[in-house]
Amino acid sequence: MFNLFTHNKSRIFNKYKNTIRQINDLSDQMESWSDYELKLQTQRFKKRFTAGENLDEILPEAFATVKAACKKVLGISLFDVQLLGGIILHQGNIAEMKTGEGKTLTAILPAYLNTLSGNAVHIVTVNDYLAKRDSEWVGTIYQGLGVTVGLIQQDISHTSRKENYQKDIIYVTNSELGFDYLRDNMSIDKEDLVQTGFHFCVIDEVDSILIDEARTPLILSGPSQISTNKYELSNNVCQKLQQNIHYEIDEKARNIALTDLGITYCERQLNLSNLYDIQNPWAQYILNALKAKELFTKDRHYLVRNNEVIIVDEFTGRVMPGRRWSDGLHQAIEAKENVVIQKENQTLASITYQNFFLLYDKLSGMTGTALTEAQEFKKIYQINVIEIPTNKPCLREDFPDLVYKREYDKWVAIANECYDMYSIGRPTLVGTTNVEKSELLAKMLDTYQIPYNLLNAKPENVEREAEIIAQAGQLKALTIATNMAGRGTDIILGGNAKQLSKFIVIQTIIHGLKSFEKFNQLDNLSSNNKEIYDILNNMCEQIEDNLQNKNDLILWIEEAINPKSNLTSSNTAIRHAYTNICSIYEESFRVNKDKVLNLGGLHVIGTERHESRRIDNQLRGRSGRQGDNGSSRFFLSLEDNLLRIFGGERIVGLMNTLQIEDNIPIESKVLSSSLNNAQKKVESYYYDIRKQLFEYDEVLNSQRQAIYAERNRILYSDYIRDCILEYAESTIDEMIRYYLNNEGKQEQRPIGITNKLKTILNLPEEIINSSLVNMEIGNMKPFLQEQFRITYDLREAYLEQLRPGLIRQLEKYYLLQQIDKAWQEHLEKMTNLRESIGWRSYGQQDPLSEYKNEAFALFLNMITSIRETVIYLVVRSRLVIDSNHKQK
Ligand code: ADP
Ligand code: MG
Repeated sequence: MFNLFTHNKSRIFNKYKNTIRQINDLSDQMESWSDYELKLQTQRFKKRFTAGENLDEILPEAFATVKAACKKVLGISLFDVQLLGGIILHQGNIAEMKTGEGKTLTAILPAYLNTLSGNAVHIVTVNDYLAKRDSEWVGTIYQGLGVTVGLIQQDISHTSRKENYQKDIIYVTNSELGFDYLRDNMSIDKEDLVQTGFHFCVIDEVDSILIDEARTPLILSGPSQISTNKYELSNNVCQKLQQNIHYEIDEKARNIALTDLGITYCERQLNLSNLYDIQNPWAQYILNALKAKELFTKDRHYLVRNNEVIIVDEFTGRVMPGRRWSDGLHQAIEAKENVVIQKENQTLASITYQNFFLLYDKLSGMTGTALTEAQEFKKIYQINVIEIPTNKPCLREDFPDLVYKREYDKWVAIANECYDMYSIGRPTLVGTTNVEKSELLAKMLDTYQIPYNLLNAKPENVEREAEIIAQAGQLKALTIATNMAGRGTDIILGGNAKQLSKFIVIQTIIHGLKSFEKFNQLDNLSSNNKEIYDILNNMCEQIEDNLQNKNDLILWIEEAINPKSNLTSSNTAIRHAYTNICSIYEESFRVNKDKVLNLGGLHVIGTERHESRRIDNQLRGRSGRQGDNGSSRFFLSLEDNLLRIFGGERIVGLMNTLQIEDNIPIESKVLSSSLNNAQKKVESYYYDIRKQLFEYDEVLNSQRQAIYAERNRILYSDYIRDCILEYAESTIDEMIRYYLNNEGKQEQRPIGITNKLKTILNLPEEIINSSLVNMEIGNMKPFLQEQFRITYDLREAYLEQLRPGLIRQLEKYYLLQQIDKAWQEHLEKMTNLRESIGWRSYGQQDPLSEYKNEAFALFLNMITSIRETVIYLVVRSRLVIDSNHKQK
């Protein structure tokens, strides 16, 4: 059981081997325990925690309990490396565990342990499908332990969202989590808040969330009033501009600058005297239109669907519906594609993932690929990456890259390799960087007449892609996927019988028997087809009557298939069909698995080096799971973006000196070091972008923290009078200070300050005039404060008499409303500031510190204006009542 032999080389394993042994011994003892006894453990641990024991002390027993429950409920015995991973996660690190090592189950160990402290634990996944899949799969274990599980999905109601956040352990995607945070910080009533604090979270596929997605902040927005024809005009002008005459492109920095000639040309075309006029800004529209024209390619950076421009994540090939590029870029692309230009949205609230996840007391994560980015995790998140050894040694062979001169020859070679693999029956997975290239390869394979599955990572397909990827290890399976389509699903050699059977049963019930006839694996298993078809046919006949008035059909089917659920007269037929089909597939997949292993396991083909070695590793890591055979090979060409832009002269020179023919690749160690260098350059380039975003957002972040904290104080307070008085005091202070600084001349005193006092504090003019004229400066403050208090008391008494309790409600409402309004305006100013700083940064000043200074000044202004507006509104709150009176 204790796997010391395989892991004795791993230092991290040795460090915790005693704990791991202890966990194993304890859980062995628990195997004979009853369900009830296991469940009781949770109560015991909680008591011990309350009595002062810390979680580290409880860890061995808690982990042992989870291990025992897992064995009992799922029949799975957790591997030592999973226990180790659990410890590493509990300590707030990133555990690098390869694909197929069982990360989903690993996460439940620290999740359970940390929930004992009474705080909610968040388990974060990259999409709704995975959140649902994982929470359902492990839910029964938590149930057995008396721990509640929540699941947040994009389409659930506010009430159910709130309920789910109240659970012990919550499965949720990064974007739902972030948006809920932003929305919570805009609610007017504390009853509307859904989240319960940020204590401990485990982020699955952590590199994807904290690195890949960290380049675009989360933005919650609402419509604004700016007209859209500037985008169209700019687009028209840009089509006439010529590269290197009117503008220059820095492809590396993905940046464009207008030449002097370009500027004059635009001004003439648009009939402007100054393109850069702040009052009538055009430059950013032109530059965005140029970026849209030159740097953003359809089907690579975005798709056009249903008259909408939808972002494609460059790294993962995933489509990101609802996300928009900011600062007018998205509109510029809409103008270029001639689709409806959506109204520019006003940012209501925003946050970067970097700063969002730093809200947690303890952050942890898991992924197959993090080590290459360990430095970034350390610098930005103060989190360490720790490599967990694999359960079994990895047998995958990574062949050296093949480099072709021309891209065309590369694709021919790839198609040929697919053909060869298919001919011998070996399953192959081809990773492409975008939809366009996937389709190019698909066309080539069509001419070879070999069948394949094509996955494009479209969000509506997430579920189906998971099904297909799960079968990508079947004999003869050929799968083309943009990066990480079907992420989170591991590829089982030979095929995944359970998943396939479930898929077929569900498809048949929903779409009828036709769907099985079309099923593309039909050829492979023709001997079984008839048998399965008959089973399905039989099932359909038996359940026909039950299909009407089934609200949640899929849930009902899943329930029927689940061997642990109760059989009813209506779902027995489904259960039978499923079990029978499953056993047919299991039989043939078992045989096939051996065949596949003999052929060498899954072969992975990379069609381009990615912008980071991490993504390459992710693709390779699809093969060779849990000690399976496997191999990988990357095909490259000198025309690939990476080499063209970052490769430098060296590689081209080498190819030329070697004087090889176009269609003969070279496979050379010399080249791979140049390649790695090119890749490192890109990695650090993107790192800089993220770091910059982070540094700029840090400024905004401390302001956001301050505003949100103030907002929360108000939201939770039932007696806001004190807060209003505080605001008034500060306002009075500021007025006096302002007056002293600017118009301290004795004779002007009353006039200088009277107007402001009158407007903001609503103090009676007689009082100000008669009393303030000869007052010592030192006496002014207490005097004004006293006067304000009197005015306020009168107002309060007046309102109390009209409607008791009204003033408290008004105060709260005014405060929150003003804070939100001011904050939104502030966000817009900050964006403008950021842009203008970008233009100014040619000079000597450090743009970041410049930005910090000005941001701080803007922030102070905002605070002052919030205070003044609130006071202004509160002391005039009669107006509201008066107008009500008039209406009567
Ligand atoms: P990862 O996220 O690390 O790629 P998953 O959590 O998706 O891996 O698990 C991959 C597969 O391994 C699942 O089918 C799961 O049932 C199986 N698995 C996980 N842990 C174990 C274990 N200890 N013993 C046997 N199978 C396991
Ligand atoms: Mg996983």
